[in-house]
Amino acid sequence: MKTTVLAAVDAKPCPWCGQQPSVWSISGPGRAIACDNEDCMTTDIVTGSTMTRALERWNKLVVEAETERGGSHENHAGSKG
Ligand SMILES: [Zn+2]
Repeated sequence: MKTTVLAAVDAKPCPWCGQQPSVWSISGPGRAIACDNEDCMTTDIVTGSTMTRALERWNKLVVEAETERGGSHENHAGSKG
């Protein structure tokens, strides 16, 4: 049986290596999303009962990872007082 691997076009890029993640079909409409880069440090994989749910989880994971790394863009030109 051949495993279907799709490009996750609506998914955010991997927060650890910047590569677009891959999508696998699992049990019917279920989908798994993970970074397929061998050099990537993460082994995180998210699954969902549908593509939409899997995408939501992946994108949430990406946002959380980016937040943890403290990559905030603070263009707050605070006024000196
Ligand atoms: Zn990666």
